[in-house]
Amino acid sequence: MSEKIITTEVVIVGAGPAGLFQVFELGLLGIKCHIIDTLKAPGGQCTELYPDKPIYDIPALPYCGARELVDRLMQQIKPFGAEFHLGEETVELKKQSNGRFHVATDVGTVFDAGAVVIAGGVGSFQPRRLGVEGHERFEGSQLHYSVKNAADFHGRKLVIFGGGDSAIDWTLALAPKATSMVLVHRRPEFRAAPASVAKMRELTETGQLRVVEGLAHELHADGDLLKGVHVKTSTGETQLLEAERLLVFFGLAAKLGPIADWGLDIDKKAIKVDTEKFESNIPGVFAIGDINTYPGKKKLILSGFHEAALAAFGVQHYLYPAKKQFLQYTTTSPAMQKRLGVATA
Ligand SMILES: Cc1cc2nc3c(=O)[nH]c(=O)nc-3n(C[C@H](O)[C@H](O)[C@H](O)COP(=O)(O)OP(=O)(O)OC[C@H]3O[C@@H](n4cnc5c(N)ncnc54)[C@H](O)[C@@H]3O)c2cc1C
Repeated sequence: MSEKIITTEVVIVGAGPAGLFQVFELGLLGIKCHIIDTLKAPGGQCTELYPDKPIYDIPALPYCGARELVDRLMQQIKPFGAEFHLGEETVELKKQSNGRFHVATDVGTVFDAGAVVIAGGVGSFQPRRLGVEGHERFEGSQLHYSVKNAADFHGRKLVIFGGGDSAIDWTLALAPKATSMVLVHRRPEFRAAPASVAKMRELTETGQLRVVEGLAHELHADGDLLKGVHVKTSTGETQLLEAERLLVFFGLAAKLGPIADWGLDIDKKAIKVDTEKFESNIPGVFAIGDINTYPGKKKLILSGFHEAALAAFGVQHYLYPAKKQFLQYTTTSPAMQKRLGVATA
């Protein structure tokens, strides 16, 4: 079977604020790109870690919610039609003999890119694992960190671990369909929305749900079949909970992941770059935002925006070395205004 290869000027790895603004800066120069993120939504740390918190140090915005910042960036880059590949981890990056790049994701999307900008932040966000011995054996079959198809969990004995919104939302959604349902959380308090927690408590009163305060201790298996999980409760006793499926919602942790294997010069989990173009040791591969390092680096959104502007010129020069570069203003440049879709004439 021949694999479909997407040919593009630039691939951006990471759709956090830096990657999103990179789309804008490349777009102003008339350069098209595809953008990949492991997460299912754009915004990186802003969306994943602190969507409802206010940010006070974005120039000219005295106050901006983190989610709002991402919404505004998405609106700002709309004219440039970047194609998003969300829910895909970039796993391969190889320079080819013609100076272009082979980039591939974990779901088999393959790119032939003229240049690459890595805006991977603190790395790929991965679900925090259950962490009991032998859990890997059941991952993807009976142990899951997300729900891809809810019907797989219907008519099953379910145990859900976690105390945040995902754990409670899936408990509410699946309890009426499950044969049995136990929610395990290490503390009596839940971090989920109070209205959802109240609904969850109602389910315990009608007998559709049992809540256990404790920690996963050991898996209970019969050969290759997971039959349940031993949980150490807050009172110190061990309880066996029968389970055909385990769902674990312990949040996400960031890992540099595959970026570490691409031959880049890395110092303390960050890619070393110059401060003229934010180019790495591999010509044609640029790194911006929290993922890069250089003397004086500060991991701020503002820094990522500045780096994206200069990296765009570096990318342009790599792709089109003969092209004369000059600075244009969005206020006065007809070419930029045309690209932005705001040209009046
Ligand atoms: C609680 C908190 C509050 C903060 N408050 C502020 C503030 O007030 N002001 C400020 O300036 N900064 C603040 N920051 C820091 C700011 O959020 C970061 O500097 C910023 O998010 C960095 O942007 P980024 O685009 O470089 O990386 P990120 O936001 O980390 O985004 C990187 C993206 O790359 C993706 N990725 C990584 N590897 C891969 C791969 N192999 N394939 C596909 N995708 C990949 C990740 O999934 C992620 O979505 C705060 C951070 C936190 C945690």
